Amino acid sequence: MSKILRWHPDNKWQAEVLNLSVDPCVVEVGGARLRFVSVGQALHRETAIISLPRVEVWVSGQSLLGGVGLVKDRDEILVGTERVYFSTHTRPTIIEWSPAAGAKTPKCPICKADIAGPIVCCPQCGRRYHQADATATAQARHCWTLGPQCMCGHPTAIDGASDWLPDPVWSA
Ligand SMILES: [Zn+2]
Ligand SMILES: [Zn+2]
Repeated sequence: MSKILRWHPDNKWQAEVLNLSVDPCVVEVGGARLRFVSVGQALHRETAIISLPRVEVWVSGQSLLGGVGLVKDRDEILVGTERVYFSTHTRPTIIEWSPAAGAKTPKCPICKADIAGPIVCCPQCGRRYHQADATATAQARHCWTLGPQCMCGHPTAIDGASDWLPDPVWSA
């Protein structure tokens, strides 16, 4: 799940989850209404940002030309004097999963075996990997946490270590 990180008056980053399945998905930044839209397909989804004409939006230092452009993980979005960050990273969770009846069983990208049982579905790209929890036997598959990150670059840590936050903003 993508989110917007906004600096909170209590001196901490606060995450607002973007529900991109709702149209329009609008977030107010610096008094301007910004629309976030999911584009692309299946395993190659990206997020586009759309602003109204005459609103000056800066995405990681680049002016949003024509009021539309793609945002990627950790992009800074600046409108007026407000600065927020876009993040695609979410703590991965282990779920019990089996393919729908009659559906083709996907293969694990790591061990190439059929996917079923306890798995992690990558929060960024949606690929599914085997992932038994910590109480499982030694023979259980831990394909998701085998490497530091998914093929798409999303970190695999399931203890929250992958929750990225920008540097704090200390008011003068
Ligand atoms: Zn596997
Ligand atoms: Zn991924």
